[in-house]
Amino acid sequence: MATHTADPAAVERALSVLCDSALDPIVEMVLLARDGAYEAHAPDGSVRFERQVTDGPVHDWTFREVEVRGRNPLGDQARDRFAPLAEELANRFPHRTDNAYPFAYEQVAQLFDHPAAPDLCVIHTSAHHWASLGGHIGEHGSLASVQCRAPFIISGCGAARLGMTDLPAQLVDVAPTVLALLGLDPTGGTGLDGRHREDAHLLAQDGDVLAELLDPRERPEVVVGFLLDGCNPNVLYDMAASGEAPNVARLMAEGSTLRNGIVSSLPTVTLPNHTTILTGRHPGHHGILHNAWWDRSVQEQVVTNSPATWVSAMDPLLPGTDSIHAAIRRAEPDAFTASVNEPADPGAVYSTFDLMRRGVRVPFPSSAEGLPHTTEMFVRPVKDYATFTQVDHHGVTQAVDLIGGRHLDTDYPTPRFLWVNFALTDSAFHEGGPHSEIARASVRDTDGRIGEVLDALDRRGVLERTAVFLCADHGMEESQPGVDGDWSPALRDAGLDVRDEAFGFLYLDPTVGAGG
Ligand SMILES: [Zn+2]
Repeated sequence: MATHTADPAAVERALSVLCDSALDPIVEMVLLARDGAYEAHAPDGSVRFERQVTDGPVHDWTFREVEVRGRNPLGDQARDRFAPLAEELANRFPHRTDNAYPFAYEQVAQLFDHPAAPDLCVIHTSAHHWASLGGHIGEHGSLASVQCRAPFIISGCGAARLGMTDLPAQLVDVAPTVLALLGLDPTGGTGLDGRHREDAHLLAQDGDVLAELLDPRERPEVVVGFLLDGCNPNVLYDMAASGEAPNVARLMAEGSTLRNGIVSSLPTVTLPNHTTILTGRHPGHHGILHNAWWDRSVQEQVVTNSPATWVSAMDPLLPGTDSIHAAIRRAEPDAFTASVNEPADPGAVYSTFDLMRRGVRVPFPSSAEGLPHTTEMFVRPVKDYATFTQVDHHGVTQAVDLIGGRHLDTDYPTPRFLWVNFALTDSAFHEGGPHSEIARASVRDTDGRIGEVLDALDRRGVLERTAVFLCADHGMEESQPGVDGDWSPALRDAGLDVRDEAFGFLYLDPTVGAGG
């Protein structure tokens, strides 16, 4: 747990403002760590809980509720709420009393391990519409069911064929699962609770191998991972079933799909969770805490997720953090691994952002018009749709070239691990919400791009010996226009000097350094 201590009176004042009925429509709950325990406060109740490290062979955290007043805001941790799609549609804008918070205690605890963790973390309601951010219909960032859940599909050589499965999983499980899928032996490392575990595949590993998803009789030569940023799993699975995403449907038919999705780490936003997928650690442990945060020790704002800072986004990575790429290279020093359009690229042999860091001129399509797998009706009116169509087309070009063995006049061997980050889905799901036509168009377009990569693997003759997995970094939920507003004015009116980073990370005394 981080050692910074905020003024106790200021914490109490802020909690009473944030949990007042006036902010009830937009504040789901407020999280904090104080006096050696964690707390969640909502207008109708609170919980205080402790983290315990248990002795014995299972190295993990357990949690003990110390005090519950009224309704425990984190009391419902069901992992199957609002799935499949019909359930989500029948329960739009769920109230806190109907919502669930999978793995909530672990998610709260990991966040406050970061030295720059906020004094208070505000979780917005499902309905909350960020009018100040341009009025996105689709939103994420919360601990609650729909916003925290991403799709997960694993398919092909070495993947179990379970079809739809209820297996519970978190994004921290992806990296160790990929390394086990590749047939790499555990090397030992530091586990979630900070103790050594012999069965770790990464030098630091918060998650576990999802062994049920693997078929140990086969080991793939190649693993390809696709990230569909911000893609809602209910929508993706529904589109696969209805024939609108035939390549995703093919992967699902030949593998296993997590029906209730895979739970992303708090905060359920982009860069912390890209990093979690590729490192096997929670944001509080790998160091990429949020898309932006406040570093008390140097009195500086850290911004990671913006076009200007993507190339240096991994600078705050905490020591000891490993990655899929680095772990593969330790076991197989000659292995080629590639990271396409991904800022979270530590250890990758080929990386788009590394080319940019080294000043290599990367040829980028000048326009989205006429590109394959493009829904023209959205390209002209929606600028972001055009931009991210260009970005993702460029991603496919790199992936297909790398699989073919040659990109930008350089020869490459067949990748052992190829990671392809697609961004269009996030942009479109934000724009129209997860249940909009633009969101579905982005899935259709991305499905076509996935097909291009699968075709390239086929042409190279390695498709039969390839495993493919598909995931996202977080979910996406429909917000309710009109339920907007900001908690900052109420805090200001109460005389509190608060720095609010990335909407919800509150630093109550921003001019005070960490001091220990
Ligand atoms: Zn994202």
